[in-house]
Amino acid sequence: MSENTLLAHAMANYNRTAALLKGEFAEDLLDKMHQPQERSELILSPQLADGKSRVFHAFIVHHSSALGPCKGGIRMTAGVTLDDVNALAMEMTWKCALIGVPFGGGKSGIVADAESLSSYDKETLIRSFTRNAQRHIHPLIYVPAPDMGTNERDMGHIKDTITYSLGHATTQGCYVTGKPVILGGIPGRREATGRGVAIATAAAMVALGGKLAGATAIVQGFGNVGSVAALLLAERGVRVVGIADARGGLHNPDGIDVAALAAYFAKQRKLAGFPGARAVDGQELLTMPCDILVPAAAGNQITKDNAARIQAKLVAEGANGPTTPEADAILEKKGVLVIPDILCNAGGVFVSYLEFTQETQQEQMTLADVNTRLEQRMKDRFAQVHELARERKLSLRQAAMLLAVRRVAQALEARGNLP
Ligand code: GLU
Repeated sequence: MSENTLLAHAMANYNRTAALLKGEFAEDLLDKMHQPQERSELILSPQLADGKSRVFHAFIVHHSSALGPCKGGIRMTAGVTLDDVNALAMEMTWKCALIGVPFGGGKSGIVADAESLSSYDKETLIRSFTRNAQRHIHPLIYVPAPDMGTNERDMGHIKDTITYSLGHATTQGCYVTGKPVILGGIPGRREATGRGVAIATAAAMVALGGKLAGATAIVQGFGNVGSVAALLLAERGVRVVGIADARGGLHNPDGIDVAALAAYFAKQRKLAGFPGARAVDGQELLTMPCDILVPAAAGNQITKDNAARIQAKLVAEGANGPTTPEADAILEKKGVLVIPDILCNAGGVFVSYLEFTQETQQEQMTLADVNTRLEQRMKDRFAQVHELARERKLSLRQAAMLLAVRRVAQALEARGNLP
């Protein structure tokens, strides 16, 4: 395994936690959590709009169902690998355990560049994936959701494909979360991850002895997570001085009008050319002056090569795995507080749980209900993690992992070892 992969980093984080838990749990039980329960590769060959069938590779990993059905999104990117999906499924196990929802961890990957597919071809590919993955997807087995490259519309098509194959009007129970509200989705799910990031960031600023209003922030990523986090931070009085996506960045020391940028982006589908800021290199932006840095795009963005130059005092991980373990150590030494991904971006899966509950119990929740519960849960968990970190002199990541892995280990222990 090469050392600079999401899987190598997930393993390094896990191994450090397992070492802390050695006295508490049997070694074979700790070893068990290293491995996923199931790692599958599917070969899809849908017929696209041009009438030709094309081969796509897809991956599904069920890391752990100790606490409930595996939960986690479908990533559609050109570079996603089975090992990445394995790492991300493992992170979902810890994320669900930490945020306190009755789910295990899973993840899917489809190797395709979502942005270059026409909407017809993307629908065809998603439906093909669903047909081929159907034995993996079930409210009691694995429940997908959006991740990089997939969205609400795709989740609607997954629900429709399964419904159709069952010959029902709709599915009984929740097969997928993050779907359109009209199909049984929940209000606020689309914004939940970004909203959770803003809530965790506010709590962390207070923990640092400051406050959110008046602070400056740089946000990497202007997709579902970054754009919502930037908007909500700005609404709470933060001066957002920089925003980047994969194609480049924008900087304005007086603050970017995030709402105006969102309107510009909705029309132009790019950040470049926005009149209210200067164009800068996206990577350079990470090391420019700010109080809060929100990496909310890809993994492996804060590395040993740029960590020492990070000027923020708080890093809020909106993305999964944006900080490498080496960078983590550098940031810790510099006294930078890092809100780890499994805490910082857990708002998405928390609201997925509300969607699952709503569908299972056939009730209806309002946006106000959802946002109140999300705010409460994020604040509670942040406080719990922060307290443990203080008590045991750990980083927030180590404390969050300790709480999460302990819960999964307790569930495994309670379930026993025999089928
Ligand atoms: N893809 C999101 C994540 O990484 C959400 C997963 C879900 O809601 O199941 O947390």
